Amino acid sequence: MKSTLTNKYKLGFFPTPMHKLENLSKKHSDYNIYIKRDDQTGLASGGNKTRKLEYLIKEAIDTNCNVVFTAGAQQSNHCRQTAAACALADIECHIIVKGNEPEHYQGNLLLSHLLGAKIHFTNNYNKEIDYNSYIEKLEKGKKAIVVPIGGSNITGTLGYVEAMKELKLQLEEQKVKIDYLFFASSSGGTHAGIMLGMQLYNLDFELIPIKIDKDTNEKGELAEVVLNLVNEGANLLNLDRNYSLSDIPLNRNYNEADYGVLTKNEVLAVNELALTEGILLDPVYTGRAFYGMLDCLKNKKLTQKSNILFWHTGGLPALFEYAKGFK
Ligand SMILES: *Cc1c(COP(=O)(O)O)cnc(C)c1O
Repeated sequence: MKSTLTNKYKLGFFPTPMHKLENLSKKHSDYNIYIKRDDQTGLASGGNKTRKLEYLIKEAIDTNCNVVFTAGAQQSNHCRQTAAACALADIECHIIVKGNEPEHYQGNLLLSHLLGAKIHFTNNYNKEIDYNSYIEKLEKGKKAIVVPIGGSNITGTLGYVEAMKELKLQLEEQKVKIDYLFFASSSGGTHAGIMLGMQLYNLDFELIPIKIDKDTNEKGELAEVVLNLVNEGANLLNLDRNYSLSDIPLNRNYNEADYGVLTKNEVLAVNELALTEGILLDPVYTGRAFYGMLDCLKNKKLTQKSNILFWHTGGLPALFEYAKGFK
């Protein structure tokens, strides 16, 4: 199975750092809090999509595709990183974003534009994306591959399987044993990859994936999406395991406000980490997930003296679009 996991195109700088949050741990003296810095993957301001795109871009190259189509929200970190990956790999990048074209581009949308992506606005938020209507318009000689929203198909998921091997080595090197892992879960690929990597590399701790979206997307409820990905991945990686829905951890306590809606919770979390550690979270994903972790600490939902890891998945550029919510 090695060949599947090693078949990738280099886009980022790995391993990303893992370190203790000394000040925050002092503040919550019953716990040791660590952070894994996938905001530092190095691809056009970083983020978790870099790991997925290393596999997705390789798939595009291996199937002789010279055009990538993907989609997302206007502030999609995934679209921005896909645009950067395509620039690096000399692939034409089209991103389909929801809503109307704004007068001024900001945050991730601006960066996607700077990175050369051709941006198409759907003007209609709810309609399912019809990639073929765009692909049909390509010139002769161009061959397109569709990367799903968030890069969360089985190919992208492999990025987080390998991230767990990286984490395992860091934990060994630093002689740290973690008890809980918190992260933001939205399109499911990060979540599924982490679960598969834990199985493949024999890691044992409690996962607390914080559900970001309120609504169920076209592919179904998030836990079911993750379930399908882990079973597909288990098969691909020859893992002797069949997962059921009850094996998929998912914390749904913090998604009451809809996707991308900033509340006082995310503001509190972004401020807290900025002021204690000088580290910037994003308003949509990591702000919400970090708030969930702080809330669990405050309400003593975790075993005392335990070691907690927060996986920072990036998203910095979106902060600028949400400026009004912070000042
Ligand atoms: C996409 C994204 C996530 C969620 O990852 P999924 O694999 O889609 O669940 C988390 N944090 C940030 C910053 C992201 O851009």
